[in-house]
Amino acid sequence: MLVECYDVGGTSIRGALVNKGSLVEKVKESTEKDFCSQIRKISKILRKNNQPASLVVIVPGPVDKGVMLNAPPLGISRSINIKKELSDLCDNIHIANDIDAAIEAEIKYGAGISLGSFYLLTISTGIGSALAVNGKRVENFAGEFGHTVLERRDKFSFYCGCSNYGCWVSLSSGMGIMNLAGIYLGKRISAEDVFKLAESKNHIAERIIKRAKDYNAQGIGNMINVMPVEGIVVMGSIGIEQFDKIIPGVYEIKKYTIFKNRIPKIIKTKLGDDIGLLGASVIGEK
Ligand SMILES: [Zn+2]
Repeated sequence: MLVECYDVGGTSIRGALVNKGSLVEKVKESTEKDFCSQIRKISKILRKNNQPASLVVIVPGPVDKGVMLNAPPLGISRSINIKKELSDLCDNIHIANDIDAAIEAEIKYGAGISLGSFYLLTISTGIGSALAVNGKRVENFAGEFGHTVLERRDKFSFYCGCSNYGCWVSLSSGMGIMNLAGIYLGKRISAEDVFKLAESKNHIAERIIKRAKDYNAQGIGNMINVMPVEGIVVMGSIGIEQFDKIIPGVYEIKKYTIFKNRIPKIIKTKLGDDIGLLGASVIGEK
């Protein structure tokens, strides 16, 4: 079954025709403000030789019945009825959240091959999660561990976009590492620059990363306290590229969970940048 898939991200939009997990055609462009019109243009390229049986668009924000409610990574705070806007392109059209789609890809093509119950944890500009139990995505699982409050001390309880202070996402995501740089280095440099500084043995940058890793241990400890699982699969730009530096080890996580003997294995996703498109195809095949 051929599925036309779109993964709309903050910086790039990916489109592809996917057949049983294989990407037949693939297009990647910088995301434009009016991404629905952009999808129409890409669709003409993808459909040159093939007609899809279904069309799936995944977006970085909450979705309800084909309507994207908002999408902070796209700078969109209003709702958009994507299903209605693109309804003429295909009779069988689905709109889904990107992390929900990603865990569908992991279940079918990634960690799910060997694990029944696992979390998918994304660490990039933000922090989000999805949950699979007995080989199935848990529906209506909010996955907002990023907004659990980890820090109440004035100095570190940074303001978060959710209007709270001290959320996990404000401490060790890309934005969080920038916040920590503001305290330790006196200027809010990007997470990328903090990692570069640490590579050149800058002790303050090393301290920032150690601190971010400890917050991740605390956050992951909370996740395990809520639901002990067999594994945690990490994705997202920081999660993948800086895995060895910011993902805590067993002993660090043990400090923050009561399930001392049930620390799951923590692994990087093996699906790379195509995880969203693969997940979209799984949704389109259902
Ligand atoms: Zn928050």
